[in-house]
Amino acid sequence: MASIVTDLRQCADSHPDRPAVRAGDRILSYADLRDRIARAATRLAAAGVSRDDRVLLIAPSVPEFAIAYYGLQSVGATAITLNVMSTPAEIGYVIDDSGTSLVLAWHRCAEAARSAAGERGLPMLELTEFENEPDDAVAATAPVDRDADDTAVILYTSGTTGRPKGAQLTVANIDAVPAAFQAALQVGEHERWATALPLFHCFGQVVVMHNALAGGGTLSLLSPFTPTAFMDRLRDEHITIACGVPTMWNAMLQVTEGYTPADFADLRLACSGGASMPGEVIREFSDRFGCSILEGYGLTETAGTTTFRNLEGPPKVGTVGPALPGFTIEVRDPDGHPVPADEIGEIFIKGPTVMKGYWNRPDATAAELVDGWFRTGDLGTMDTDGDVRIVDRTKDMIIRGGYNVYPREVEEVLYTHPDIVEVAVIGVSDDHYGEEIAAVITPRPGTQIDPDALRAWTKERLSAYKVPRIIRFVDALPKGATGKILKRAIDRSELVAPTSA
Ligand code: AMP
Repeated sequence: MASIVTDLRQCADSHPDRPAVRAGDRILSYADLRDRIARAATRLAAAGVSRDDRVLLIAPSVPEFAIAYYGLQSVGATAITLNVMSTPAEIGYVIDDSGTSLVLAWHRCAEAARSAAGERGLPMLELTEFENEPDDAVAATAPVDRDADDTAVILYTSGTTGRPKGAQLTVANIDAVPAAFQAALQVGEHERWATALPLFHCFGQVVVMHNALAGGGTLSLLSPFTPTAFMDRLRDEHITIACGVPTMWNAMLQVTEGYTPADFADLRLACSGGASMPGEVIREFSDRFGCSILEGYGLTETAGTTTFRNLEGPPKVGTVGPALPGFTIEVRDPDGHPVPADEIGEIFIKGPTVMKGYWNRPDATAAELVDGWFRTGDLGTMDTDGDVRIVDRTKDMIIRGGYNVYPREVEEVLYTHPDIVEVAVIGVSDDHYGEEIAAVITPRPGTQIDPDALRAWTKERLSAYKVPRIIRFVDALPKGATGKILKRAIDRSELVAPTSA
């Protein structure tokens, strides 16, 4: 017997008045949340949704997302959550691929969903309709029992290539996340969580929302993210756990006035994940705000975090910590053999949150799930303490004239330049070297960086073959819905090496 709604309901029974979700001035207590989930479940059941149905949910980071999500879990359905920016074609692809039977959408982003559903003759409900259920729906609805191995959610993820694939996360996968956080990080029921991450993505959805609500904490949602609004939240709501991607922490650092270490005093866990965090941002954050940003590492296919910075001992900037309790990490060479400590190889993960496979993709599942190990496609190292360092995505590694260049290493150096706010280093094809290194940079406002001077500065810090020959300045780097820098979306048309360099 299992249901990912059980913990939340138990919390509503024991602490009905405790705030569960906040979005600005709106506060839902655990009892409110439980009752609204029950109403949603009643409406979904009336619409014919039952166990094993797959239902698309398209909503921003609002409390209604959680209500619909847990409503779907209550009737035993599988939730498929999608970015609110999705086009009708993208939504249509997921509907067709997954065999969705119903679409749920937040009214302000329902147009694309309506169009994709309409074209396929599928029913669509707006989330506001859940409110119309009578109060007696509340008592009537208890969550259905599910097997631990039932698919609770399917999260579409593209990895680095190909069309998005649906990672199937089971009831057991999702429920293992709060268990791991409670064991490793002493996350308790009085935590106040804040995030501006989108809830359709695994980081916001499982690592933050489910962790907070299954653990009895209070979840504060902010959308859209602005650094000052987020820092106001941390201060005003005495947030104890805040989760974001590196670009968010970096954006807070760019706010030069108005905040002091006192504003971060209650923040016990300032968590970063989803992409590599420049060491320089961690150091500056600690210097300015007295707050240590702690890194974790994981993927959609592992329901989020699988490693987290060890809270004991001195910080090791640049590592994402050891495997969480119950997880094992191995770093392997291309033949599949474990490499010695500190040597680079591909990261493999085993643990209770590893997905059961991709929906309807036996080939991709067989390629990435090998004897119970998930093959991540990330390159990294592990030291003798078991601390993992993420080097780069296998596919992002640049091979220039036969030498391996890890973009992250070059980015780390460029981030220490005082006039660089953000940078992405990528490989572009080159007739002579096979690939050439390009740095696409957002400079600090009001500054001008001379490319030749920057190359010379970089050469003092890195071997010559790692120095970007191509340097381009942009106002902003393209970012995905979570705020991660999207290297694939960088316009490469003007990225050609200067002939004189
Ligand atoms: P997603 O499936 O969208 O969550 O993306 C997972 C990918 O994000 C991983 O395969 C890594 O390449 C990257 N990633 C996640 N956490 C980290 C981290 N702490 N450091 C570096 N890369 C990370």
